[in-house]
Amino acid sequence: MFETVLNSVDRDRLRSAIYDATAADVARVLQKQHCTPEDFPVLISPAAAGFLETMAARSRQLTTLRFGKTVRLYAPLYISNECVNACAYCGFNIHNVTTRTTLGLEEIISEAAVLHRQGFRHLLLVSGEHRGCVPVTFIAEIARQLRETFAGLSIEVYPMEQNEYALLVESGITGIAVYQETYDRERYARLHHGPKADFSYRLATPERAARAGLRELGIGALLGLSDHRIDLALVALHAAYLMKTCWQARISVSFPRIRKAAGNFTPAETVTDRQLAQAVFALRLVLPDSELVISTRESRTFRNGMAGLGITRMSAGSRTNPGGYSIAEDALEQFAVDDRRSAAEVAAMLDRKGLEPVWKDFDRFFLA
Ligand code: SF4
Repeated sequence: MFETVLNSVDRDRLRSAIYDATAADVARVLQKQHCTPEDFPVLISPAAAGFLETMAARSRQLTTLRFGKTVRLYAPLYISNECVNACAYCGFNIHNVTTRTTLGLEEIISEAAVLHRQGFRHLLLVSGEHRGCVPVTFIAEIARQLRETFAGLSIEVYPMEQNEYALLVESGITGIAVYQETYDRERYARLHHGPKADFSYRLATPERAARAGLRELGIGALLGLSDHRIDLALVALHAAYLMKTCWQARISVSFPRIRKAAGNFTPAETVTDRQLAQAVFALRLVLPDSELVISTRESRTFRNGMAGLGITRMSAGSRTNPGGYSIAEDALEQFAVDDRRSAAEVAAMLDRKGLEPVWKDFDRFFLA
């Protein structure tokens, strides 16, 4: 289990590998033909910030080599903003007094139809963590209804047991996204209350999902909750571990930065655009086959700039409230979207950059 690996990390050594790295260390790593996950602390270090252009060029080259000039597009579909947890930084926090909504099956199908007309064939079904309002059987029913029209159906809901994931696989769910938020246990304990406070259970979720047959595993940290460089180094370690042990699945890494949400949470640090770009390039250099994802939390300028430089998957035209595409455009958002362009506008931007927007890259036929 990854927890054993995580527990064996000497945090002081990791901190020193990052913060004591010199320009000479960075230059030495960048001279290597193939970087490895062990090189990540140097590549994410403050010293490596002066090598951003070199890292971007290497990252672009590797991305083109492994993925071609393509960017996969997906859309989040929020099915509920009910949540039993009290995460200090989130608009769906149980203590945030507001109107809560869980869409019914017909409403979800109607939201999905809007996204299908926009061209999407990969959806991420998102909800707060509330088993009562969004039971596993309900998610399974949604999947059965959508599986014929969508090639990829991932979920970002609550961590489940292996047998529950197995039911979802059978029903048509293809992947999960489960972010550890921060790999700093103490900070995690301070920020999370409710079932999500169980750090170990959440950490082992991708492994349970892989054993059940899910073929896309998305991980990440919410950058700004803790020291972002240390969190990213542990995300890289986690991704490398999953690529080895869950090799049947595709591993993706997301880079969410904390954004303003209901509750006015103040982050531990603000991650700048340059720091985020460095994180993407560093990950690409050490894990060339990983899928790197960026959402509409980020600005259009940043997203335009990063397309083709390491990012291989983007959301587009997103609404982060249940019913946001066609039913209740003003319902409570989980976080503020920055890039508000339509899916067609994002696709046109990729096209102008010589990149191919990919709406569908898989068919269930291949599983038969
Ligand atoms: S981050 Fe997730 S679990 Fe926490 S309050 Fe928000 S929706 Fe709920």
